[in-house]
Amino acid sequence: MTNIDDILNKEHLDYEDIVMLLSIEDKNDMQKVFDKALSVKANAIGRFVYLRGLIELSNICRKNCLYCGIRRDNYKAIRYTLFHDEVMESVRLTEKFGFGSIVIQSGELLGDTFIETLESYIKEIHQKYPELLITLSCGEQTPEVYKRWFDAGAHRYLLRIESSDEELYYSIHPKDENHSFKARMQALTDLRNTGYQVGTGVMIGLPNQTIEHLAKDLIFFRDFDVDMIGMGPFIEHSETPLYEKRNLLWSLEKRFNVSLLMIAILRIMMPTINIAASTALESLDNQGRRKAILAGANVVMPNVTPLYKKKNYKLYENKPGIHLNPWESLKSIHDSIENCGEHICYHNPGIPKHFRDRTNSI
Ligand code: SF4
Repeated sequence: MTNIDDILNKEHLDYEDIVMLLSIEDKNDMQKVFDKALSVKANAIGRFVYLRGLIELSNICRKNCLYCGIRRDNYKAIRYTLFHDEVMESVRLTEKFGFGSIVIQSGELLGDTFIETLESYIKEIHQKYPELLITLSCGEQTPEVYKRWFDAGAHRYLLRIESSDEELYYSIHPKDENHSFKARMQALTDLRNTGYQVGTGVMIGLPNQTIEHLAKDLIFFRDFDVDMIGMGPFIEHSETPLYEKRNLLWSLEKRFNVSLLMIAILRIMMPTINIAASTALESLDNQGRRKAILAGANVVMPNVTPLYKKKNYKLYENKPGIHLNPWESLKSIHDSIENCGEHICYHNPGIPKHFRDRTNSI
């Protein structure tokens, strides 16, 4: 039988290798995978961490994903949309803190008002802070909208597929015209064709999800040739339909450990992409993001949304840091990453080497 060391010495991990690595439960063997991933990262892109200022623009969403705390039918969610001045103040703080890029995230909203408003924000930010790279995470839109926002100055887009398995996807989304697996896949291709640096990701530890599903997710990322990944443990929210299936969930410890393994294995498979240390990891372990960085992640997204609004952007429960103002969010991240051999790169957008190589850009 192949042992862990043999697998970690391979040039190319196949499906069976990935399943075996994801199945590791022994702490020492897990550490071998994390160490290998850290060494791959160090050799390929250096031990650098890039910060993105996260602005949660609006928690209004037209969709009804069965796991999400701000889904359309959660009438208990207190809805908000940031005003223009709140957005610009968040951007100003991002630039002042030297983060290098911002992420504007919102529920999925269609319609001219949202599209035009966001387009005007992107133009204003791009004009005032040309060195700040703008990332969007605003759900599925048409190719024309992706192009408008790209032309306005946004050059990165995050759109998580949540699972690359169609059946599992439909077990966590309603089966209706608003939630289409094929449309989600097409959206990733549209984003790629528009010229964005494209990011996606999955949740780890969903009801009925298996290690085999997750191994196929990793292979999907490689086959699609993604530039960026954000993935983290599934954490249930009591005001969602999926909460009824909480008896099917893995333990929190297993969800955390498999999430770290997913990050580490992906780093080994795709050495030059950007991998985020998700906030959800910190919900399960107060050193979660630091551990993810030491398992191969290289991006962290401190929240710069105004304190009085961000407590209402709750995709899952026990979201960490909702009582921290932007400065405290940064300090908490800085303190947790410092002194572990990593260097935080301020004033650097952290464009993935993978994207530069893929597009032959500088
Ligand atoms: S996961 Fe995203 S698209 Fe789905 S309901 Fe939540 S905010 Fe909306």
